[in-house]
Amino acid sequence: MRIESDIKLGFKDVLFRPKRSTLRSRSQVSLQRTFRFMHSGREWTGVPVIAANMDTVGTFEIAKALAEHDMLTALHKHYTEQEWDTFLKDADEDIYNRIMVSSGTSDKDFAKLTSLLERHPKLYFICIDVANGYSEHFVSFVTRVRQAFPDKVIIAGNVVTGEMVEELLLGGADVVKVGIGPGSVCTTRVKTGVGYPQLSAIIECADAAHGLSGQIIGDGGCTCAGDVSKGFGGGADFMMLGGMLAGHDESGGEIVEENGKTFKQFYGMSSSTAMDKHSGGVAGYRASEGKTVKVPYRGPVVNTVQDILGGVRSTCTYVGAAQLKELTKRTTFIRVQEQENRIFNG
Ligand code: 5GP
Repeated sequence: MRIESDIKLGFKDVLFRPKRSTLRSRSQVSLQRTFRFMHSGREWTGVPVIAANMDTVGTFEIAKALAEHDMLTALHKHYTEQEWDTFLKDADEDIYNRIMVSSGTSDKDFAKLTSLLERHPKLYFICIDVANGYSEHFVSFVTRVRQAFPDKVIIAGNVVTGEMVEELLLGGADVVKVGIGPGSVCTTRVKTGVGYPQLSAIIECADAAHGLSGQIIGDGGCTCAGDVSKGFGGGADFMMLGGMLAGHDESGGEIVEENGKTFKQFYGMSSSTAMDKHSGGVAGYRASEGKTVKVPYRGPVVNTVQDILGGVRSTCTYVGAAQLKELTKRTTFIRVQEQENRIFNG
């Protein structure tokens, strides 16, 4: 047994130190980024915030709304080919830059992915997603997908340590998704005792990925726009959001009325709710590692999107970054014992 005793940080442990700046207004800040992906060689430009591939968040409706802001959506993997056909029927060309196809790692998943990409060859982002990205099987699946689709952008996750980021990038991933346990409806840390504070995971994994010209996605744990900024400040190339985008008109999940208030259901993809819905229940050998919650209904997602992007722009002005690309370089985090003053939070 070993103990690592250097400090690992979550979003709640830091704040940005403000810096002198020549920027006058947040309207001067550009959140667009351009990346060239290491294996596929493709170039992409957009706002690097991604809706999570959960069936309550990564919906076609969310994808349309986020595409208006040049943001991405990882569509959940339970859509049928017919549903994809309908969605893509009158999709303008730019939509292909704004959506990702999700896949698990079974032979059935591979067959479904292959068939979908043959039907719609313009789809080019593939998100291969498992709760635990540390298995050999996962790395070989990523390599198999890379061999089958040399010119697609492959995202693989989730992991939280630099050596596994390197292994996945060398195994064929262009981008690695980072986060084990920080999610709003995740119970992995409670059920298994496994996890890694998300800001430190981002900082360490970004460093490993950038050394090989790869990118990372900080996935999970953002509770507010400030956390999204902290992820970018820590070195994340993309940030992925679940709970922050739940509860809207465009989100999935049933509407629940209680005492005159409206809520929408939101649940983890390995919660018993999701497993009952998609896999005929929780298999006997495993525990559910996700929660089911009700989030207050929040109307159209565009208001939340503006709030998040406005917040990140404002962070950039506080530290003097004219473009999101400069944010990491301009970031000094200070460790803190407090975040906001909650006296009027009820
Ligand atoms: P959030 O933004 O809600 O904090 O986190 C979203 C992320 O939580 C997702 O992108 C995914 O990585 C993770 N997640 C979603 N469902 C589950 C689940 O049932 N269990 C666990 N452990 N993580 C989940």
